[in-house]
Amino acid sequence: MKELKDNPKPPQELFAKHPETSEFVSVKRFYCGDCGTIYVDKEMAAECCKQDYCECGNKLPKFWTMCGSCRDLKRWEKAEEVMTYKGMLTDGEGNYFNDMEEYLDINYDVKPEDREEFLFCTTKDTWAGLDARSALENSLEDYCGEDGEPYYQLVDEDKLLAFVDEWNKRQDIHVFREDSKRKVKIPWEEVDHENT
Ligand SMILES: [Zn+2]
Ligand SMILES: [Zn+2]
Repeated sequence: MKELKDNPKPPQELFAKHPETSEFVSVKRFYCGDCGTIYVDKEMAAECCKQDYCECGNKLPKFWTMCGSCRDLKRWEKAEEVMTYKGMLTDGEGNYFNDMEEYLDINYDVKPEDREEFLFCTTKDTWAGLDARSALENSLEDYCGEDGEPYYQLVDEDKLLAFVDEWNKRQDIHVFREDSKRKVKIPWEEVDHENT
């Protein structure tokens, strides 16, 4: 990766030698004064090796407008705090907990300075079931191929679809997904209370 600089050398206009007149003419391109990469746009050439900074002062990787920790902070700030919530919780980093009690049981020894303030709520997402009709269509399409002339007459298609429909209704398959619109405050005082 190229090294970004606070004050890169200014962009330069690119010239080429005209094959007949041997004069140097602009090819309407600009190159970065530092690394030589060519751009159509003068501003882009100026930005090429320039180090950008986040509002908080952290260095930004190229093309980022906010650093990782500010982005994370914003995500938590934007969520609305809910006071009464029962259900799965998540720390926003892919870890899920059945309830606050479980979270505290696992994290009871986290040092006060390393403690997170909130957990995100979750939403229950139930499986819509098997789409037998499109599974059937896809399978036959794969089998017939693009150039084969499809000829088939399905037997008892309606029975299959009705059966799968019934079968789908009997399933109870769901996942919990992060709901980053809602957050719950972690009652660390409960842990502190037990420790004293
Ligand atoms: Zn450059
Ligand atoms: Zn930042």
